[in-house]
Amino acid sequence: MKKIVWLINSMDLEELRDLQKDIENNSEIIKKALWSRMQDLSNSDKFCATCFRELKNPKYTLIVGDKFKRRLSFCEIDCFHHYLRNVEELREELMH
Ligand SMILES: [Zn+2]
Repeated sequence: MKKIVWLINSMDLEELRDLQKDIENNSEIIKKALWSRMQDLSNSDKFCATCFRELKNPKYTLIVGDKFKRRLSFCEIDCFHHYLRNVEELREELMH
């Protein structure tokens, strides 16, 4: 959390207003950024890509990407569905 405080202290008023707006708006932007970064950092064969629970023998695995293939594993079908819904939302946002 120290890094976050440092980051806030380095932001200007306009950036802070945007951040405050996002927090008031259920932190949707922060949640998405967090989720996306955790996906990048998690070793996808060892952790569920949605809930980040440790996996022994993943039942559901996806391979995504064009140039850089990424392997995503999920503990249960619910997490798999949740991931697909998130991808759908992110894609819709990028199109607008
Ligand atoms: Zn899961």
